[in-house]
Amino acid sequence: MKKIQMVDLKGQYQQIKERVDASILEVIDSAAFINGPEVHSFQKELEEYLDVKHVIPCANGTDALQIAMMGLGLKPGDEVITADFTFAATVEVIALLQLTPVLVDVELDSFNIDPEAIRKAITPNTKAIVPVHLFGLAANMDEIMEIANEHNLYVIEDNAQGIGATYKFNTGKTAKTGTIGHVSSTSFFPSKNLGCYGDGGAIFTNDDDLAHTIRGIVNHGMYKRYHHDVVGVNSRLDSIQATVLRAKLPNLDSYNNARRTAATKYNKAFEGIANIITPKVKGNNCGTSENVICETCNCHVFHQYTLRIVNADRDALVKHLNEVGIPCGVYYPIPLHNQKAYRDERYNEDDFVITNQLVKEVISLPMHTELDEEQINFITKTVIDFVSK
Ligand SMILES: *Cc1c(COP(=O)(O)O)cnc(C)c1O
Repeated sequence: MKKIQMVDLKGQYQQIKERVDASILEVIDSAAFINGPEVHSFQKELEEYLDVKHVIPCANGTDALQIAMMGLGLKPGDEVITADFTFAATVEVIALLQLTPVLVDVELDSFNIDPEAIRKAITPNTKAIVPVHLFGLAANMDEIMEIANEHNLYVIEDNAQGIGATYKFNTGKTAKTGTIGHVSSTSFFPSKNLGCYGDGGAIFTNDDDLAHTIRGIVNHGMYKRYHHDVVGVNSRLDSIQATVLRAKLPNLDSYNNARRTAATKYNKAFEGIANIITPKVKGNNCGTSENVICETCNCHVFHQYTLRIVNADRDALVKHLNEVGIPCGVYYPIPLHNQKAYRDERYNEDDFVITNQLVKEVISLPMHTELDEEQINFITKTVIDFVSK
């Protein structure tokens, strides 16, 4: 059996090596390292893939979020609502811009921000909501957009884990995640569903004026050379990363299909096993029957495959898997509202019941495009044997 990895970037590279190697060498040969034609072409190709008017490449997914918030003109003291159960980057940039983060609880089945909790957290100072499409499943965008419209709030989608996913609205209309809110961010960190070979990120929007503002912000606030109209940042995707992304973008749907296939096998193996709760596998309004992974739309792109271990020792399972050579992860082990940097006396533990539960139960199994049947069988058997002991 091939050695099991959490993410197998080497195996994936072998499939596209010729194209990637040749195009990296071309970039080096052209010496157009920054803002070269590769970056522009990638931008256009991603706009077309997502069906969004503007993609603005930048240096990483954290910058992308920060720049999106700067572009919206959010001011110190403005309250921004986001999920308690996510990667810290989301709340970090809110705090960094001296906006006020307002963390709220998530849903037990989808792991995503709970629209009811958003409603409860709204005050006259609330200016924006940041849903995170956690682990590759879209948040409830019907409700979130409705709340935003009612209260005149911006919606900034953190799409770092959701690229390629499709959301189906109550009306039956579909849209790619990251094209639904006012502005969105994504990350091309190597292990993300569309990853480059270093750092990279992008901002998406359908708003022409906002796109113009953001294009200046990523480039030192310049709209005309050496005229600095606003305080900006320096955040660029370089040409070598862009050329890697151009090689991988045409494969994104098949990469996501491979993840879905692996998730289907995991789910089948874990069906009916006591102490294991398999993840919710389909988005809102997906036509497929309950908890059967959808074969026809990309409603879940499985950035992570995350189980809940109930009435069994999750931490002992993590230890055991590591001992037998199965890498795994606990995303995320500590609720953001309990992180030293983000504690706030206004928070009340009763408002984070689900996140407090999830941090004790979740475990993410290896998930990538190169997982084979033998590896999945070994992983599922090992997990089942352990929790059934
Ligand atoms: C990865 C990630 C980010 C940050 O992306 P970087 O490119 O690492 O800065 C932000 N939000 C979420 C939910 C992520 O998973």
